[in-house]
Amino acid sequence: MKILVVGGAGYIGSHMVKQLAQAGNDVITLDNLSYGYRDAVKYGEFIEGDLGDESVLDAILGTGDIDAVMHFAGFIQVGESVLKPSMYYHNNVVNTFTLLEAMLRHGVKNFIFSSTAAIFGEPDYTPIDEKHNKQPINPYGHSKLMIEQVLEDYDKAYGLRSTCLRYFNAAGADPDGELGERHVPETHLIPLILQAASGRREDIKVFGDDYATDDGTCVRDYIHINDLCEAHSLALHRMIKSDKSARYNLGNGTGFSVKQVIDVAKKVSGNDFKVSIEPRRAGDPAVLVADSTLAREQLNWQPRHAELDDIVKTAWQWETDFLSRQ
Ligand code: UDP
Repeated sequence: MKILVVGGAGYIGSHMVKQLAQAGNDVITLDNLSYGYRDAVKYGEFIEGDLGDESVLDAILGTGDIDAVMHFAGFIQVGESVLKPSMYYHNNVVNTFTLLEAMLRHGVKNFIFSSTAAIFGEPDYTPIDEKHNKQPINPYGHSKLMIEQVLEDYDKAYGLRSTCLRYFNAAGADPDGELGERHVPETHLIPLILQAASGRREDIKVFGDDYATDDGTCVRDYIHINDLCEAHSLALHRMIKSDKSARYNLGNGTGFSVKQVIDVAKKVSGNDFKVSIEPRRAGDPAVLVADSTLAREQLNWQPRHAELDDIVKTAWQWETDFLSRQ
């Protein structure tokens, strides 16, 4: 297939591009490099441009040979979305809308959308399945849910097929050591902990230890980046074969507290580091764990890196390689 990967220079997108190319697909990355890196796109064609730019989209989609679009170019920081909602609604909603309009103009009708566990808000029950109420508690979650709604309507009216994949906590790195997580600023737990373990950072700050969880810190479901990408490939094939839209929650189904992740990182790295307890971060639910039964059953999806140790090991390899390159 020929696949346009929007945001293919970012963390998840770059791993996806590699996986698609290695499976024999023709891949084009469109990325404005606002958060991504040119050197993270190691496969296929690269076009620097913005997903909100109609002329770039027309040039790519107008060739008539694109089979599907995968969209990873969303803004992703919950805290930032609370402070700067306009930035989030503009990129995650308006620009995504522009992309969808261009797809309709050129008759490209297969779309894979990066959604998020944040669409569920504070869970009523856990693990969270696809039927769970959707009541986001921050603009980031709202922005993703709005596009899910648009996609439902476009499916019915225009036959635009979509699969929305609600990521829980994407983590880890390419086991070949070619790609990894490189956010600037970094806000995600595992890379921050590993930067403390390698000495790049003075300490790790734990955002709240007074949640209603066993050790008081927030519980999340960490899913290896390659497992996440594999779910995209499986979802794309199923969507095309069945000609049906779908939505899946993607996680391992096991929750780890912030303190447990810190313990695993100490074990994997063999290094001790300072841990400080800070106030809660705005917009954080106490527990987010996925029920991915639907993805396992319908897509035959089977995470290969289900152990947290294994996920953290790949991220630690990336961190130590980074330091050795400095
Ligand atoms: N977290 C933390 N310290 C940090 C970064 C994150 O305690 O420096 C916590 C955060 O409050 C959340 C969990 O780690 O409970 C995972 O946060 P992350 O930003 O990695 O992902 P999110 O769950 O927000 O998508």
